[in-house]
Amino acid sequence: MESRNQALWQARERFVPRWVAQAHPIFVVRAQGARLWDVDGREYLDFAGGIGVMNVGHGHPRVLQAVRAQLERFTHVCFQVTPYEAYVRMAERLTLLAPGGFPKKTLFLTTGAEAVENAVKIARAYTNRPAVVALTHSFHGRTLLGMALTGKASYYKQNFGPFAPEVYHASAPYPYRGVSEAQALEGLEELFHTQVDPERVAAVILEPILGEGGFIPLSPGYLQAVRRLTEAYGILLVADEIQSGFGRTGRMWAVEHSGVVPDLLTFAKSVAAGLPLSGVVGRSEVMDAPHVGGVGSTYGGNPLAAAAALEALRILEAPGFLERARAIEAKVREVFEPLKAEVPALGDVRGVGAMMALEFVKDPVSKEPWPEFVLELVRRNAERGVITIRAGLYSNALRFLPPLDIPLDMLEEALQVVGENIREVYAALA
Ligand code: PMP
Repeated sequence: MESRNQALWQARERFVPRWVAQAHPIFVVRAQGARLWDVDGREYLDFAGGIGVMNVGHGHPRVLQAVRAQLERFTHVCFQVTPYEAYVRMAERLTLLAPGGFPKKTLFLTTGAEAVENAVKIARAYTNRPAVVALTHSFHGRTLLGMALTGKASYYKQNFGPFAPEVYHASAPYPYRGVSEAQALEGLEELFHTQVDPERVAAVILEPILGEGGFIPLSPGYLQAVRRLTEAYGILLVADEIQSGFGRTGRMWAVEHSGVVPDLLTFAKSVAAGLPLSGVVGRSEVMDAPHVGGVGSTYGGNPLAAAAALEALRILEAPGFLERARAIEAKVREVFEPLKAEVPALGDVRGVGAMMALEFVKDPVSKEPWPEFVLELVRRNAERGVITIRAGLYSNALRFLPPLDIPLDMLEEALQVVGENIREVYAALA
């Protein structure tokens, strides 16, 4: 008999374009904490969290309560038409939370890409300069400017050009693949001599931990050096914390591990526990630069999302909540570091806090990427009830994005399943 998943899949194939790629042909009916259930009644442990959105877990009762209460009052009026308190309170919270002891202001939007777009608009308005520098291996969204900034051609940029002009890329450090931070810094300085005069650069945008690029952490030393360079040339530094923010790495922001203070910071994903909310927070003088009416969005800072965000932040800020990220990192390292010796395809175990990834290679010396390995691994993980997703320029990394309060025995059990699958896939494909 045809399962409900299969029946829905057929409808999906008929009515939804084929290129909206699915990691799993599993239709969800319910989600709670770290778990979700499909239409056929199967239970899964969710290591994807809708791509890093569920730091406080699915269906947190306090978030649901806050959204329900707001739902009864009003769902939308548009902050540009008639403002409402939740927007202002959220802005106040973000202003206190964002790094930097100077006056700050916050703009709310809906998607991550929109936050990036607006950070660039604000940086251009403030500096009166056109150019933006991003890193290779980066991901900043799928809008025209987001694509232009993104440092990964396949999938994201393939077939969709021409792209927005005045975007330049410097090599991201990638120690596992032989690009040291010193080389990456030299590359950035060289770019200022060969590609674009730094006096024309409005902003350098970077993810403190490259997300879609495969969870490559940028070290404090590298980030501090970039900060010094941007300051020397009057360039703004934008930290894209859309995936790494809101406690994912064990601090509220990943950039905090370095002590570097960006001028602007973009956030989205876990801010509102699954409701669409994003934004830009930064120095007041920079945020105030665009002309009145020049920046906005119909749904930006939607009341339901703002209500969810205010509550999600209270949960994240509860004593001990963020520390849980460290326990997750320790567990991931404990399970997978020893596996490197046993399974040569497991090339690298890396990340910070609850933002951990495994990179797979055909050969530990040549480090030739092995995307097929990860594709098969992701499939087998789901077969055994663990939802995982890929990452990396070569789609050869597996990433874990569990909710921070996942019970450690549940985490351990699922990681062991992934470990067994790694052995099995290696036996099958090697
Ligand atoms: N920047 C980063 C660092 C991201 O991880 C993402 C989403 N994966 C985006 C921007 C784009 O966000 P959205 O899909 O909400 O537009």
